[in-house]
Amino acid sequence: MKNVIFLAPPLAGKGTFSEYLIKEYGYQHYSTGDLLREKAKRDEKLQNLLLSGSLVDDETILKIVKEVLQKRESSKPFILDGVPRTLHQAKNLDIILNDLGCNDFVVIQIKTEKDILVDRVVGRRICPNCHRSYNVLLEGFKPKNEHICDACGSTLIQRKDDNLESFEVRYQAYLESTVPIISYYEEKGILRTISNNESNQERAFEELRGVISGH
Ligand code: AMP
Repeated sequence: MKNVIFLAPPLAGKGTFSEYLIKEYGYQHYSTGDLLREKAKRDEKLQNLLLSGSLVDDETILKIVKEVLQKRESSKPFILDGVPRTLHQAKNLDIILNDLGCNDFVVIQIKTEKDILVDRVVGRRICPNCHRSYNVLLEGFKPKNEHICDACGSTLIQRKDDNLESFEVRYQAYLESTVPIISYYEEKGILRTISNNESNQERAFEELRGVISGH
């Protein structure tokens, strides 16, 4: 199974698709957002930066990614969720992956219309324990109990950056810094695209299975 890199705007479903690949195929999952939120518990400056929606500097990101990849279990494929987000990160990630001998990967772009992303922002809830995500405002994505994770019973939380102001900053960062990476991977011939606009996620999972099994 190939390693996977997800490229997507905020709220497009990177976390949900990752969860699916972990369950179905046993992928290891590295989310730079999760790793940064953990680090931010001890770093107020980082906490404020994440809250604003701005990107964290490339060197910090590359250091974190290199560390986790060095410690990975080499027998299992992995997902990079949230990285790269800039062309500089993408080029340096190539070097890291090459040095670690794990450059067999597919880049999956998740396309979602902006108005659908906006609809998802305010209602998103996350499980701080198993990272499963829900939406308390959208049918089909609600947890059984508004505050409790169906999967592990932990109390759900709302991410502090899940508000419209921060979303707009994150979305602009995606357009300005991350979209240019798409053609970088397209030229390498390793880019695949799936869409996640529908409320029925089974269709999107089917597309994802197609991409994964085609490699
Ligand atoms: P996410 O959980 O992927 O939505 O990421 C949450 C926040 O973490 C982003 O809004 C950025 O502030 C920061 N972040 C995560 N990954 C990266 C990255 N690769 N480069 C820069 N900032 C990042």
